[in-house]
Amino acid sequence: MAYALVINSGSSSIKFQIVDTTADASEDPFVSGVVEQIGEDGGKLTVKTGGHKHVVQTPIANHTEGLDLSFNLLNDLGVGPDQVDLKAVGHRVVHGGLLFSRPVVITDEVLGMIRDLIPLAPLHNPANIDGIEVAQKMFPELPHIAVFDTGFFHTLPPAAALYAINNRVAGDYGIRRYGFHGTSHEFVSKQVPALIGRDPKHTRQITLHLGNGASCAAIHNGAAIDTSMGLTPLAGLVMGTRSGDIDPGIVFHLYRQGISIDEIDDLLNRKSGVKGLAGVNDFRVLREMIEDDNQDAWAAYNVYIHNLRKYIGAYMLQLGRVDAITFTAGVGENDQDVRWDALAGLENFGIKVDPEKNKLPNDGPRIISTDDSKVTVLVVPTNEELAIARYAVALAGL
Ligand code: ADP
Repeated sequence: MAYALVINSGSSSIKFQIVDTTADASEDPFVSGVVEQIGEDGGKLTVKTGGHKHVVQTPIANHTEGLDLSFNLLNDLGVGPDQVDLKAVGHRVVHGGLLFSRPVVITDEVLGMIRDLIPLAPLHNPANIDGIEVAQKMFPELPHIAVFDTGFFHTLPPAAALYAINNRVAGDYGIRRYGFHGTSHEFVSKQVPALIGRDPKHTRQITLHLGNGASCAAIHNGAAIDTSMGLTPLAGLVMGTRSGDIDPGIVFHLYRQGISIDEIDDLLNRKSGVKGLAGVNDFRVLREMIEDDNQDAWAAYNVYIHNLRKYIGAYMLQLGRVDAITFTAGVGENDQDVRWDALAGLENFGIKVDPEKNKLPNDGPRIISTDDSKVTVLVVPTNEELAIARYAVALAGL
């Protein structure tokens, strides 16, 4: 067993896991936890291990206090860093810009470069840096590795990466398509060739990461050639609370009506998407509302599926030939209706989902298309933390 600690640090929260890197992608992690409401009135730590959940409610002033509290509790439970032989710490870093295409061991220079990228991810990168600095102090003897959400998309060709805006402005401000969820798209797409019996160097595929955040990618022989998220994770598919693609003129219009930039940011990132249309962002609740024939829920669902199909169609054309379409993340792995509706009526394009296979429960990678479907349709559970943990252990040279 080789354990790694994985840290995903946000501005007021820290998610962490202790992961056995030899485990299966669908196994529960050895330990998972979340510290919430850091620096706020509440303050809450939730830890899950061995099928048990432990909750502590207490004010948590900062990230150091949050991780201290977490690791003390884990040590008391006998599953903490004092008892588990940790080999490395993996940090999820949202924006690697053009500087990082692969996971790297964090040095002072690397930390400086992540800091240089703050203008591209003003909310995320500072919080990631906080997490790194706190964890480095706590575990100075362990290698710390940064894994970037954007890394996998370094292969995007200019035609997919450039926006048709003034190129001097774009250059000055680093404006281009970077893409996100790269760790998940890579983790899932790497498994597909073996599952469908093809050479990875000759496999063209579309991956659909449908969680609360959602994105899709076109992958040609292992390299991403397009993806739906852009400069920020707001673009592309309709998501739980994010609008996905909208006319950018909407922003100017709202601003000129007197709504502030911060309010518009909050509107599009946290109050839009499925939640904006139906009032809820959890697809399980949305499904119940649809069963009750709630019209807002229907509208949200139809917009979601319409937009998803538009991207699938676009990527089929860009790839020219598609060997596999893969669903992953919370919605993609669990919601059979989304999978069915996303690909219904595409027999003429060689896509035939098998209604029985599509209904099978989510217990690992599986093919859900019929035997005679030209395009193989799959469900492959993602596990970003496991992917990060594996990178961390690999880069630590273990
Ligand atoms: P993220 O990592 O982006 O927060 P996840 O990949 O964990 O997202 O997906 C979370 C979402 O998955 C939930 O908001 C919910 O909409 C959906 N989801 C989870 N379980 C199910 C299920 N059994 N059926 C349908 N949707 C589900």
